[in-house]
Amino acid sequence: MTRKTIVPALLLSAALLIAASAAWGEDSSKSSFLSGVHKKNQVTCADCHGKSLTVDDSETALNKNCKGCHGGFADLAAKTKEHINPHNSHLGDTNCTACHKGHVASKAYCNYCHSFAMKIPAMGTEKESTDKKWVQESAPGKKDLKSNRVESTDVVVIGAGGSGYVASITAHDAGAKVILLEKMPITGGNSMLAAGGINAARTRYQERLGMHDDPAEMVKETMKGGRDKNDPELVKVLAYKSADAVDFLVSLGADMTDLVRSGGVAVDRTHRPVGGAAVGPHLIKVYRENAAKRNIDVRVNSEVVQILSDGKGRVTGVQVKGKHSGVYTINAKAVIDTAGGFAANNELVGSYKPQFRETASSNQPGATGEGMFLAEKAGAKLIDMEQIQIHPTMGGDTKVLVSETVRGSGAILVNHAGKRFVNELTTRDKASAAILAQPEKSAFLVLGESTRKSNVQIDGYIALGLVQQADSVAALAAKMGVPADALTATVAAYNKAFEAKKDPEFQRQDIPRPVDGPKYYAIWVKPGRHHTMGGVKINTEAQVIAKDGNPITGFYAAGEVTGGVHGWNRLGGNAITDTVVFGRIAGSNAASFIKKEK
Ligand code: FAD
Repeated sequence: MTRKTIVPALLLSAALLIAASAAWGEDSSKSSFLSGVHKKNQVTCADCHGKSLTVDDSETALNKNCKGCHGGFADLAAKTKEHINPHNSHLGDTNCTACHKGHVASKAYCNYCHSFAMKIPAMGTEKESTDKKWVQESAPGKKDLKSNRVESTDVVVIGAGGSGYVASITAHDAGAKVILLEKMPITGGNSMLAAGGINAARTRYQERLGMHDDPAEMVKETMKGGRDKNDPELVKVLAYKSADAVDFLVSLGADMTDLVRSGGVAVDRTHRPVGGAAVGPHLIKVYRENAAKRNIDVRVNSEVVQILSDGKGRVTGVQVKGKHSGVYTINAKAVIDTAGGFAANNELVGSYKPQFRETASSNQPGATGEGMFLAEKAGAKLIDMEQIQIHPTMGGDTKVLVSETVRGSGAILVNHAGKRFVNELTTRDKASAAILAQPEKSAFLVLGESTRKSNVQIDGYIALGLVQQADSVAALAAKMGVPADALTATVAAYNKAFEAKKDPEFQRQDIPRPVDGPKYYAIWVKPGRHHTMGGVKINTEAQVIAKDGNPITGFYAAGEVTGGVHGWNRLGGNAITDTVVFGRIAGSNAASFIKKEK
């Protein structure tokens, strides 16, 4: 800082301090604006905010100070006695301020999706929380806003989910200066919720297990799953670069050694961490660590509200609304849109598919789709917007997705009459339609001990209270409220199919395990909104395509914000492949575009 900037900064800090003291009474440490514990311990403004009292959008200093006093997540997790441990959750090591507030009531971030009866100690004042409602009434049509400052960089990336991190890391490693912007208080997006795995064909992990796979088969199955409405060129890139994508993840430090089968696929192509641990939290942890190691500028609470262009077909940067810093502009030589899908946006989903408006969504609350409309305003063509995927197995009346890998690991789908009614490993659209054709519009996953042991995620569903357990099939049937004789006969027939390696009833191809004891398990499931297949049109270079069919200069996109890769129905495991394959292409092409421009 020069003397020129220090003096105004000090004056501003002093003014803020005076204003704060005036607003909070003479002794701010006793202010009713502070929550119980902080008030009791006479915490001062500077204890949390630092001397300058300025708070950046990522609330960096605040969070450092929280951890300085209270310890890190690991320390706090160790003290937690309850089964649900918010400091050791799939959200990972995030900002404390995502849940804890100093001046308004705290709210557990988990409860944007769950409904845990979790009381945060030092909840804060009784004042209504001023938290933003992330699910917007309507995504498009933000008013033009005035910027209060201008920054510059090489590449701006919109949205810090998997695609955003992969694009940022790749662009950075190719020599570009990157700013990664995330509107939510935590990074990760839907990517962090991914439970199953990443599809990749002909990987060293498949070969190690003596398994034969072929990218050409992945192309065929992806096209068939997408009802041949996918862009075949994008699908070829997805499949033929999928094994490289897994190698890339491993090079960052990820574990992709375990294999399982997903619906619509004839081989074990879904890669995940050992023991079947959820892929998303693992990858986001790896990405966060890699971004931090590279000093990539990642900003949370930073919503992109406009993609700027020069009016001559070239994108020039973005306008951002920071939680604390207000609206500002970042001029960039290239912009990568990785802002994800919109399955959490009731209104938008309802505008395309009114029948899905009231169904539960498996998505994080920020999956509201602005990235698509910001791109459209900057000239992009949107495709397949009405193609919204319903996932067959959301846990009963919750927002928790029961991963397809539970079926892949050995669970069967049973109706309220205690009978199987569909090939469990068919595509999601068909499995969902079969459940919705049942009078109760719901079904049960039924599995045995060996399946539970093979997939650590099932223990997570047990912890969340989604699973019924019993010592016999008949006792399980009683708990499920289905006829015991029917369920017993269903399980016996399925176990016979396991022995014979042939399923005459529903032609399920892969029967990895029987439904065996000593304990039997059931999960009540209903279909729910899961994935939006449509979005920004891109080409195989991840360039955004304008309405006239030409690429928009300096504009790239990857992941769920794009359309075309998955056609009208996505196969389980292919979305994470999409984020890595096209995230890498977008990052690498944005960086080479900049080099050419220099
Ligand atoms: P996201 O990860 O959603 O990231 C987009 C980010 O952009 C978000 O953080 C969002 O908040 C941010 N953003 C949005 N608008 C703005 C803005 N204006 N300014 C700044 N930031 C913005 N797929 C698989 O292949 N395998 C699986 O096992 C699997 N399991 C899943 C389980 C669940 C519960 C869910 C919901 C999805 C699952 N999927 C799975 C799908 C997959 O996770 C997603 O399609 C994929 O991760 C999307 O990645 P992304 O980076 O494109 O978007």
